Amino acid sequence: MKVDMCMAYSQPSLLPDALDILTQAGVRVIAGGTDFYPALKAGQHPDNLLDVTRIDGFSDITQSEGGIKIGAAVTWSDVVKADLPQAFDALKQAAREVGSLQIQNAGTIVGNICNASPAADGVPPLLALNAEVELASAATGKRVFPLGAFIRGVRQTALKDDELVTAIIVPKPDADMTSGFEKLGSRRYLVISIAMTAVNILLDTQGRIADARVAVGSCSAIAQRLTALEARLIGQVPADIRISPDDVAALTPIDDVRGTSAYRLDAVRDQIERAIHKAVLS
Ligand SMILES: Cc1cc2nc3c(=O)[nH]c(=O)nc-3n(C[C@H](O)[C@H](O)[C@H](O)COP(=O)(O)OP(=O)(O)OC[C@H]3O[C@@H](n4cnc5c(N)ncnc54)[C@H](O)[C@@H]3O)c2cc1C
Repeated sequence: MKVDMCMAYSQPSLLPDALDILTQAGVRVIAGGTDFYPALKAGQHPDNLLDVTRIDGFSDITQSEGGIKIGAAVTWSDVVKADLPQAFDALKQAAREVGSLQIQNAGTIVGNICNASPAADGVPPLLALNAEVELASAATGKRVFPLGAFIRGVRQTALKDDELVTAIIVPKPDADMTSGFEKLGSRRYLVISIAMTAVNILLDTQGRIADARVAVGSCSAIAQRLTALEARLIGQVPADIRISPDDVAALTPIDDVRGTSAYRLDAVRDQIERAIHKAVLS
């Protein structure tokens, strides 16, 4: 009797096995599935899924002199619970506001960046941490991209069909660097960001800004660092900082059902000031 092909669902525990599976045509990768499944059309049944959540080491957050490595199956809830340097507070604050507890328990940080939504809440905090993305394939081995180069556009990344993201790597931040995150949505939980901002700040011994990183999401096709503003902030006292329209001129927000472009630009100026104050008060 001829049997119709059933859905194949693989949950390998070894990375080489996962990469082997990925060399087959038509394999789709999932982690928590919280972006993947809602994006399927009614009646659509993907027939070859590779679940990466059981791969050895993928659920680990490891810290070394070189930096902090966040495995590809680390969830938002894992990040909230992890003992991380205070420079990661913005990422933790973002994690607490992603979706709901159920989404935070299943959804991964790596899934968030691979989905490459302009409204992905993990991207601004990771950009402000100078995060890099580690990829692996059976054919070419490992390669590492700065996060800003990994995300190429709306729902577009540098990933090739035979590649997995294996981890996010954050260079070890200065122990005194602090951070803050601000998200604007139409309500507190289960909402897509109208705009979000992550800031990392290092103060000198006089309380002036010695290093500033400001990243904004939902206000351009790809979340971005505001490098001209970061340079302007050096030497300033946080309490005196006022963000001008020129400071956010690099952003290109759209008008949509969630807010107008003008509203987003206005909100972001306020968010940056708040995130700086949150960072230095932490
Ligand atoms: C109700 C609800 C509320 C939500 N709220 C928010 C929110 O507030 N903020 C927010 O930013 N997002 C939100 N999301 C979106 C989603 O939960 C997050 O983006 C989440 O982090 C995705 O992670 P995941 O593990 O579920 O990804 P998955 O759905 O498993 O995968 C997402 C994409 O990444 C790819 N992928 C995953 N892992 C890998 C890997 N290791 N290598 C290569 N490709 C990979 C998949 O192929 C897929 O294309 C929400 C979703 C839902 C359903």
